Amino acid sequence: MPTERFELLPNAAPTADAVREEILANPGFGQYFTDHMAHVRWTLDAGWHGREVRPYGPLTLDPAAAVLHYAQEIFEGIKAYRHADGSIWTFRPEKNAERFRRSARRLALPELTDEDFIGSLKALLAQDHAWVPTPRSEADECSLYLRPFMIASEKFLGVRPAQEVDYYVIASPAAAYFKGGVEPVSIWLSEHYKRAAPGGTGFAKCGGNYAASLAAQKEASAQGCGQVAFLDAAENKWIEELGGMNLFFVFKDGRIATPRLTDTILEGVTRDSVLTLARDEGLTPEERPISIDEWREGAASGEITEVFACGTAAVITPVGELVTEQERIRLLGDNGNPIAKRLRAKLLDLQYGRVEDTHGWLTRLV
Ligand SMILES: *Cc1c(COP(=O)(O)O)cnc(C)c1O
Repeated sequence: MPTERFELLPNAAPTADAVREEILANPGFGQYFTDHMAHVRWTLDAGWHGREVRPYGPLTLDPAAAVLHYAQEIFEGIKAYRHADGSIWTFRPEKNAERFRRSARRLALPELTDEDFIGSLKALLAQDHAWVPTPRSEADECSLYLRPFMIASEKFLGVRPAQEVDYYVIASPAAAYFKGGVEPVSIWLSEHYKRAAPGGTGFAKCGGNYAASLAAQKEASAQGCGQVAFLDAAENKWIEELGGMNLFFVFKDGRIATPRLTDTILEGVTRDSVLTLARDEGLTPEERPISIDEWREGAASGEITEVFACGTAAVITPVGELVTEQERIRLLGDNGNPIAKRLRAKLLDLQYGRVEDTHGWLTRLV
């Protein structure tokens, strides 16, 4: 994949080594950004062109840019991991590239090829590889979080798909997403607000879905919960997912179930990987509708032994309780979430190159 297709405009004033090292020692999540960003421009007439890696910095956008008014925007989230030998890898980027195209089609944005998507990550990392933190131990889940995104930048207030679009990749060093590590989180059940509806944009990774989830997130915070679980819009009965993570339920007989994909659920790369790893571990994965009643009854009877959420940013996080307006749904016994922890360790071992990549999931960036 030729990174030389991306022209380099080097940052004349990059972050000093000492400052960068200080940031990498305690990066938090999404607060600091590297010295460069990748950019590709699209116009209706010329298609994709102008591939470049240029200094990270504010964008110049016309106040009439369509994205600012009609939210024609999509994004991705993917990480770069430093292995023990210093090499830098990413995880299943072709899945993210494919999903980015699915999101693009739904938001009437132009599609980007695998070559440009993965090429942009490689081109950015060729410059900013020093920003990928080095894990200090197996428990140190540090990485460089990569955020590809595409916006409608055309100056036009009419309502139609934009004819000028920009694609960027920015990168942010990251420590573990939840400060508590694998401590179970409390989840708020949003019964009033919906994230997605049939025929809508739920399956697309677009900013609009997140904008629509924030009021529910605010309710969750007021209830002392860190995340929100959404039910389906049609029947208010079926579990869909969290605002930015997919959900799994572990049963005492070894089944492990996640809601079946519909156009109201985002197809997580972590979700897909967990389904495969669960099978490798001798569990029986199931993709099917799961109702809030099944969660309540399974938790009370002990049929459900673990619930966990998964996504690139937070990997796998056990869910301790589901808080609703009427009740608190807790699992019968606290068994310490052994399956969630095992799958999490498996996934991290693969991503950090500590076990053989038998599924061919890793792509080298640097
Ligand atoms: C990104 C995202 C996920 C998780 O997807 P991964 O590919 O596993 O990171 C789940 N749900 C929503 C709504 C998301 O935006």
